[in-house]
Amino acid sequence: MPPRPRPGVPRLGALPDYQCYSCHSCDDCCRGNLSVPVTPEEAEAIRAQGWAEEPGFVGRDLFIEHQGGLYLAQDGATGCIFLDPAGGCRIHARFGLEAKPLACRLYPHVFVPVGREARVDLHFDCSSVAANLGRPLAAQGDDLRAILPEVITTERFAPVPLRPGIEWTQMRLDRLTAAFEAILTAPDLELTRRLAGLVNLTHVLNNPGLAGLRPDETDTLLTAATARILEALAADPLHRRRLPAGLRLMFRQHLGLYGRQDRLVAGPGWAQRVPHVLRLLSGHARVPRLRPDWPDVRFRELEGNWGPLPAEVEAVFERYYRVKVQAQSFCGQSFHGADYLSGALALWLTYPIICWLARLYALAEGRRELTVEDAQRALRVADHRHGRTLQQRQPADLKRAEALCAREVLRALIITYGS
Ligand code: SF4
Ligand code: SF4
Repeated sequence: MPPRPRPGVPRLGALPDYQCYSCHSCDDCCRGNLSVPVTPEEAEAIRAQGWAEEPGFVGRDLFIEHQGGLYLAQDGATGCIFLDPAGGCRIHARFGLEAKPLACRLYPHVFVPVGREARVDLHFDCSSVAANLGRPLAAQGDDLRAILPEVITTERFAPVPLRPGIEWTQMRLDRLTAAFEAILTAPDLELTRRLAGLVNLTHVLNNPGLAGLRPDETDTLLTAATARILEALAADPLHRRRLPAGLRLMFRQHLGLYGRQDRLVAGPGWAQRVPHVLRLLSGHARVPRLRPDWPDVRFRELEGNWGPLPAEVEAVFERYYRVKVQAQSFCGQSFHGADYLSGALALWLTYPIICWLARLYALAEGRRELTVEDAQRALRVADHRHGRTLQQRQPADLKRAEALCAREVLRALIITYGS
């Protein structure tokens, strides 16, 4: 039986048994995937380790200030300045695990304050998480409970509204989460259909006429709506619909937001970015190479019918969405303070983005069939940005996301890139 939590420390939420993770020392997080925030106390402790006199550190800043926060300094080519050229962390090697900043010790785990418990989300930009390698999360409860008090206390907990101005208890939100999971894991339906169903259910609950529902009426509504949606999905012809040019342009801009690499070190200047921006806006020409591993292909090669996703690709994506839904990390403090329904729609909007990215990686190898590796690479890119960007979401980004999350637009995008 798990130990009772200490006062001020939340209990740990249920841990999934379908998601695994153990570090396989690829060093990607240290090479710049992870921007490591440090508290003033951690910075002081690291300074006291005496790095300033070490060869390779003399005259270099150990930390960078960014938007009012302090981060471990990075080198553009090699990532964290404490990463040894041969791989491995110099702080860890010399002073042990506990001497590293909390963010390094916690990664790729994320504690999400939900109701009265801390649920666990994962960074899917970690290669082991994306590939589901290692120990099941359900077997890691003791390790997570040990670090939990350092990360999160109950004072940080705040309720997440269903929609702006409409509060539901966490118990009611959990019933909605269970309805999402029921659709997400429904057997015998392609994942693209299930995502279309999740969009439907989210929009049903976004109806202002449902604001005054009592909790018992919510249960009845959720049960009936989920059953109806699942029944309708089986017969849904999933007709492809070409979106107006303006919405297609917005989707490309949104893709640009996800494709961009988010580093603390200075990236390409504005002059170098202009051609990328123009390519994203035109959509007729070639996909801008926002990342070195993006192939030089035309936008139109990513369009059209690629057929249903292979079952093993669906399994990768389904696992990703289950982790996000179960942790409820798509809203509240984990996602720009979004309300539950807006955050859910923003999560469903990642599906066409992830499918588009997977197509891009397939084309990089001259294929038009997706593999598990394409799916994992796409997830690593998309999840690195989703809700975790160092930049705040700008009003223009929010407006664009809102337009793309309209029921018929989002459904069209899901079908276009998911089938
Ligand atoms: S990215 Fe993941 S697997 Fe690679 S070193 Fe970091 S934690 Fe380990
Ligand atoms: S401090 Fe160590 S573990 Fe943390 S990012 Fe740098 S090299 Fe990696």
